[in-house]
Amino acid sequence: MINAKTWQTVCGLVLYPFFLGAAATFLQPGHPWLIPIVKFFNIFFVALCALGACMGVLFCLRRLYFGCPFCRARSRVLGGSGKVLCVDCPSCGRVVVTCRLFRTATAELVGDEDEEDEE
Ligand SMILES: [Zn+2]
Repeated sequence: MINAKTWQTVCGLVLYPFFLGAAATFLQPGHPWLIPIVKFFNIFFVALCALGACMGVLFCLRRLYFGCPFCRARSRVLGGSGKVLCVDCPSCGRVVVTCRLFRTATAELVGDEDEEDEE
């Protein structure tokens, strides 16, 4: 079980090097020490995208679960957009995990608000 916070931290850390790599390749094409670095990040990024795609399918089937950042309980993913991921922990209630660039993600309890988005 991946902790929601761990996942969001990985997302925040991986995007920046990828875009820097893309920018560096554009500015300095074929720089000898740049190629293996960029290749490494590209492979890593593609693997992460593939994983993200699988998670997207699971999410659509309402079968996507992450570990709660507070108690590590199995929590269903309610939704998320961009840098924010919302999980429903059976013991803590709703937890919003926000992804930040170059830093660890933050987790915040939002409690059980009366906004029922479920069918
Ligand atoms: Zn919890």
